Amino acid sequence: MTHTNAPLPISMEFFPPKTPDGADKLAAVRQQLYPLKPTYCSVTYGAGGSTQDGTLNTVRAILSEGFDAAPHFSCIGASKATVRTQLQQFKEAGIRRIVALRGDLPSGYGGFGEFRYASELVAFIREETGDHFHIEVAAYPEMHPQARNPQADIKAYVAKVKAGANAALTQYFYNSDAYFRFVEEAEAAGAFIPVIPGIMPITNSSQLLRFSDACGAEVPRWIRTRLEGFGDDKASIQAFGLDVVTDLCEQLRCAGVPGLHFYTMNQAGPVQALCDRLGLGA
Ligand code: FAD
Repeated sequence: MTHTNAPLPISMEFFPPKTPDGADKLAAVRQQLYPLKPTYCSVTYGAGGSTQDGTLNTVRAILSEGFDAAPHFSCIGASKATVRTQLQQFKEAGIRRIVALRGDLPSGYGGFGEFRYASELVAFIREETGDHFHIEVAAYPEMHPQARNPQADIKAYVAKVKAGANAALTQYFYNSDAYFRFVEEAEAAGAFIPVIPGIMPITNSSQLLRFSDACGAEVPRWIRTRLEGFGDDKASIQAFGLDVVTDLCEQLRCAGVPGLHFYTMNQAGPVQALCDRLGLGA
């Protein structure tokens, strides 16, 4: 990675709203965030069908508002026939980029389907649609929680790159060394695509700690203990969180990362505050 003075591209992630009221709120949040000029916005996807229509509808709305948009698309439990149909639907909607994932099976859901790993989905998308889609895949600087070990996880990541991924978005992290080490090891293993750090603002300590345990992201002890020390004092949590995540983004920017991908949690304020501190966007 080399540092340049070029503006740092940013992207933003939303989840599909479940109610008409939620859709209105998200539309307002998007309007607040668009002045930051995201390269694209991505919309998450529920493995096993829970929010798939919501994903496509939200992506269509973003495209109609003049911004590029990418559905997240997970393959667990899916057949090749259904994936083929959905890819066709994406093409018809004017979609040119996809975040391709394995996903996690919802509890009580049947088998894996015809795809076992995201690398198989990436290969299938390339076989079926050539270079139509720009494909992003997931990367885990602190290791995917189901991986046997970090080396096996790097191997799995490299398989996604060899299958045709254009770029990677990382799970969030608060320890930049884990990210730098991941990029070094991936490159040593022959994977040279841009690895865009996923940035999770810190706004709520119990939610963050719960989330992080489930997805394999580490909240370092010094951050955890300070958050715990603030108790229910939301203003202090948010001020501290903004300082910590601004510093993290600064370190990443100084090291020349190819962009920042913000997990917005469908809220405008935290990402606006961060970008404001970083002098990004508007
Ligand atoms: P994979 O890359 O297939 O990896 C899954 C596991 O299998 C890893 O442990 C890997 O090491 C292992 N593995 C892979 N290939 C092999 C192999 N050949 N042999 C042995 N082991 C192998 N989930 C959703 O449901 N919806 C979303 O919208 C969503 N968006 C996300 C966005 C980002 C940026 C990230 C980082 C994650 C997202 N997730 C989402 C979560 C993701 O679906 C889960 O983390 C899931 O468990 C793994 O998906 P993957 O695409 O990383 O899988």
